[in-house]
Amino acid sequence: MNIILFGPPGAGKGTQSKRLVQSRGWVQLSTGDMLRDARKAGTELGNRVAGIMDRGELVSDEIVIALINERLPEADAAGGAIFDGFPRTVPQAEALDRLLAERSSPIAKVVRLVVDQDELVARVEKRAAEEGRADDTVDAFKVRLKAYNDQTAPLIPFYTGQNKLVDVDGMGSMDEVSARINAALDA
Ligand code: AMP
Repeated sequence: MNIILFGPPGAGKGTQSKRLVQSRGWVQLSTGDMLRDARKAGTELGNRVAGIMDRGELVSDEIVIALINERLPEADAAGGAIFDGFPRTVPQAEALDRLLAERSSPIAKVVRLVVDQDELVARVEKRAAEEGRADDTVDAFKVRLKAYNDQTAPLIPFYTGQNKLVDVDGMGSMDEVSARINAALDA
């Protein structure tokens, strides 16, 4: 089963994706992780996206669609994928639908983690202290939240129109949120 974990920066998509990898055996396809790996490896792509990421802006649709396309065979092999941080724009969502239609494995559900804005800020501050991500600064976070509201939130009506969107309360402990996600997936 292919699913999307959807939500603003700091909603817990990465944490909850990793838990689903453990419990369901699916693969996590995180474009943020792929881009950070490219940067760590010092590839040409990594160097090209570094400044954009550190400012909190979105990299081009073309780049992230190509990254996801390369990794879809892993999803086939695992029997499912958790898309984490992708798609983030309507053109990305349309491209994903096309790529998955070719493989006859469409998105089954889009789980949207709903978290208060104050809590998002608190989580990103905590992550900044723990992981030292360059885009967890106050300024970059503001840009990321704006990118989410302007470019990513239009996916809510997009997936509502496909009857795939399920809202899950993302507040509370990791275990509580995991239990709610599992209930939504099994419903
Ligand atoms: P994330 O770890 O998902 O928060 O992603 C970190 C950064 O990588 C984002 O702020 C963007 O600069 C870039 N990025 C990750 N995924 C995407 C995407 N689907 N579209 C555009 N930019 C992305």
